[in-house]
Amino acid sequence: MAVGRKAVAPAHAALPTIPFVHTLNADLHSHSTRSDGTLSPRALAQRASGQQVQLWALTDHDDIGGQHEAAQAARELGLDWLSGVEISVSFAGETVHIVGLGMDVDDVALHAGLARIRLGRAQRAHDMAEGLAMVGLQGAYEGALRYVSNPDLVSRTHFARWLVETGVCTDFGSVFRRYLSHGKPGFVDHRWAGLGEAVRWITQAGGLAVIAHPGRYRFTPTVEFALFSEFKAHGGAGVEVVTASHGLGDVRKYAEMADEFDLYASRGSDFHSPNESRLDLGQLPDLAAALRPIWQALTDRVRPGRR
Ligand code: AMP
Ligand code: MN
Ligand code: MN
Ligand code: MN
Repeated sequence: MAVGRKAVAPAHAALPTIPFVHTLNADLHSHSTRSDGTLSPRALAQRASGQQVQLWALTDHDDIGGQHEAAQAARELGLDWLSGVEISVSFAGETVHIVGLGMDVDDVALHAGLARIRLGRAQRAHDMAEGLAMVGLQGAYEGALRYVSNPDLVSRTHFARWLVETGVCTDFGSVFRRYLSHGKPGFVDHRWAGLGEAVRWITQAGGLAVIAHPGRYRFTPTVEFALFSEFKAHGGAGVEVVTASHGLGDVRKYAEMADEFDLYASRGSDFHSPNESRLDLGQLPDLAAALRPIWQALTDRVRPGRR
């Protein structure tokens, strides 16, 4: 052993002590202040632990700068942890989100890819503010910035917070409906990553790619079929079946799609904030017994919490 260097066992050497069954309270989709959440990675880990989450991933939009803090906090709290990210992808004229789980968070190509797709966000934010000014809402850029902690990651959520807190709208639903969705004054079309690119960044960094909240996209059945087929062809591995924005019908539908496309199933709250999120961390129905939980394919990527 090299003199002066501490021997450090690989973090995944000890296997998790919790059986990785389908009823595991896994929450593999959540956001911190590194993107558009309101809690720090550490505060989020504490909340997950308090909500009896057994396996947790922080999946900030297009950014993995919070991963080391998340890993450290989870370890101290005795919470099993997987690395995570949620990548913005342009597909068939819409934005699709691809969650990555279990990647090496120091992977250079992954960092470079994410940095590239973050680049356009600043200009987009200025353009969004210009659109809002046209309908009489001045100062939106500065307003949104007040809620931003990562200057590289200005998102529509930050504009939404400003529009609600200044009383322009009463809730998030109406902000997005009236100002921030396709065709509305604050909406700016943006070119994100390609589907193949995003899946490649994740898989080449040793992770598995998952289609996030498929029930939210407004695709025709044909385009949705194309999304799943192309995702699979690029090496995509899973689909979120249980997530806050899915009703029972979505859960059933995407359980069937998981079976049809031979994909693992994932489960995550998409938690952003104690005041804004519909469901708290870990407060989700279990995956059905017939599904193959994605964590079973990631056991060697899990960093066990200290017990
Ligand atoms: P962006 O990546 O800047 O386009 O922002 C997308 C984020 O806006 C999503 O990750 C959600 O957090 C949020 N969002 C999008 N649509 C809605 C909606 N209808 N209600 C609440 N939040 C939304
Ligand atoms: Mn978000
Ligand atoms: Mn999303
Ligand atoms: Mn999300």
